[in-house]
Amino acid sequence: MIELDNICKTYHIGEFQVHALKDISLKITAGEFVAIMGPSGSGKSTLLHLLGLLDTPGSGSYKLAGKEVSSLSGEKLAVYRNEFLGFVFQMFNLLPRLNARENVALPLVYSSDPESSNQSFPEELLKKVGLGDRVNHNPGELSGGQKQRVAIARALVKNPKVILADEPTGNLDSASAQEILGILQGLNKSGITIIMVTHEEILAGKAGRIIRLFDGKIISDKHTGNSTGATTGTVTGIPEELKVHGFNFSRIRNYFSQAIKSLVSSKTRSFLSILGILIGVAAVIAMLGLGTGAKEDVKKSFSSLGSNLLTIRPNWRKFRQVSAGSGSITKFTIADAEAIRKIPYVKRVSPNVSGRGRAVNGNRNWDTRILGVTPDHALIRAAEPVEGRFFNRSEMLSRSKVAVLGKTVVSELFENEDPIGKFIKINRINFRVIGLLPEKGATGWRDRDDEIVIPLNTAMYRVMGKKYVDYIDVEVADENMIETVQVEMHALIVKRHNIPENREDSIEVRNLAEIQEAISATVKTFSWLLGSIAFISLLVGGIGIMNIMLVSVTERTREIGLRKALGANNRDILLQFVIEAVVICLAGGLLGILLGTAISMVLAGFAGWTIKISSGSILLAFLFSVGIGLFFGLWPAKKAAMLNPIDALRYE
Ligand code: ADP
Ligand code: MG
Repeated sequence: MIELDNICKTYHIGEFQVHALKDISLKITAGEFVAIMGPSGSGKSTLLHLLGLLDTPGSGSYKLAGKEVSSLSGEKLAVYRNEFLGFVFQMFNLLPRLNARENVALPLVYSSDPESSNQSFPEELLKKVGLGDRVNHNPGELSGGQKQRVAIARALVKNPKVILADEPTGNLDSASAQEILGILQGLNKSGITIIMVTHEEILAGKAGRIIRLFDGKIISDKHTGNSTGATTGTVTGIPEELKVHGFNFSRIRNYFSQAIKSLVSSKTRSFLSILGILIGVAAVIAMLGLGTGAKEDVKKSFSSLGSNLLTIRPNWRKFRQVSAGSGSITKFTIADAEAIRKIPYVKRVSPNVSGRGRAVNGNRNWDTRILGVTPDHALIRAAEPVEGRFFNRSEMLSRSKVAVLGKTVVSELFENEDPIGKFIKINRINFRVIGLLPEKGATGWRDRDDEIVIPLNTAMYRVMGKKYVDYIDVEVADENMIETVQVEMHALIVKRHNIPENREDSIEVRNLAEIQEAISATVKTFSWLLGSIAFISLLVGGIGIMNIMLVSVTERTREIGLRKALGANNRDILLQFVIEAVVICLAGGLLGILLGTAISMVLAGFAGWTIKISSGSILLAFLFSVGIGLFFGLWPAKKAAMLNPIDALRYE
């Protein structure tokens, strides 16, 4: 069954070399019960770990069931441990978060064939070791002897050929020790080879053979004459080729449920580590929502300003800069507007005047902007009334006293009545309300619904007493010709008003598309800025996760060692810890999405900001939190996976 030839093992501690095993040669046949004895530090554990394939020898050969195993890969060794070997430790090494049944079932997680018939049911094994009524108890609720019985049941679940026990009774009272030994003897009778390290002569005396070590050497090797399960037959059941377990959904599911369990079991820590991601994701969601909302706002308010729109007006800023006496500000006339109308590609023209005025309805009054326009205004500025109608050209020419009201004016002057057909006074002149303007919303601080639109001629000659127009709106027929028209318009006005060359910039032609572009670009920059700040907080959360995971790996070093002893390979451990990190981030991410949405709604409600949360930004936040988990979980998980099972098991 087991054949060791000239096995040496040397530990290097800095400059020192510790020869833990020197030239060990040993044969153990199937079904033997071997006790290994010797003083502390004589190499007993080292030998047992080598036999258990938890460690590899420095030199020499180890044949297990006729197969050389001293030079196998870590993955293959893990399969051997899982399929053919069972371990019982002095410290029991049960996982505290799992109940007895789950602890016993642990090796099945790493089985290459979960459906294999060559395994036992955890409940039956617990019954067999006398714990049928403790199946759902956690290790914390069990006595030392009971814990060790659970550990033995765990060692048996894959029907091993060999059980390796390192001082299994070292932490037990003598009565429990006797019981445990009785169980091991029974197992041995059923044919399982047992190799047990012990300090106690009485217990060793029950074995079939006692090997004594001193200073890494075998100093005696005697049969006791006790009957054992030893047979002379050859060992069967160990196949030539071992199957390394691959990707398997039930295992992944197991990792997920364990990750959730460990999250729940340390609530404060989990909450704190989740918090970082939660805040980050919430910030990303809210910021993205804010950015998209702002972009939509800009788009909406510009579409209500009209498309392909050019506005020509005197440049007051320039005018104020030039010193007095260098001429007066250029004033536009209706004739200018008619001249502009003749420029190719000009579709509509509306000369406008604007000023402030007081509107009165009964005992209500309201100061507002009065706009004198031509009927084309409704088309150029997308101001077709939602109710009633706009005035027509003859009403304009006859200086009719009709008015179209903005929404704010309506709400200030009228309570619940329908304003259409009613009369209001504007600067003490009676006007009939004929229509209501569509809602335009606010641009920054300015409420664009706070205005009254009246015919241009009425405004100029009856209300404001102006002979000139303040500015001229021009709609261009073709989007691509806007700039050409812009240049021509400017040239035309310069020529008509004989503006000297050095004052040409006192005329300003505003291109709305340009302004929209500029504002959109600013909004975009802002969104990016906000987004990247939010992203940085997500990153900080990720670093927090990494920190927690590193602590967790250190804390659970023994668990990692145990899992490896039970057959987990590096990939299993890596996956388990990465999944834990991902679960933390996922929990943070989902809560963050909820919080971010809530914050956005509150902001939208109280501050009146438009916030647009798209499924895209939720997906982005979700994927990011998973990605952060993967990224920041990988390093700690790698650290865990690379742990040597022996170092991990010895870790205090
Ligand atoms: P025993 O189990 O008989 O008490 P061990 O097999 O644990 O003895 O140890 C044998 C010798 O090897 C001891 O001198 C011990 O200090 C040394 N040793 C064991 N493990 C390591 C290790 N990981 N690194 C360095 N020295 C070790
Ligand atoms: Mg030891």
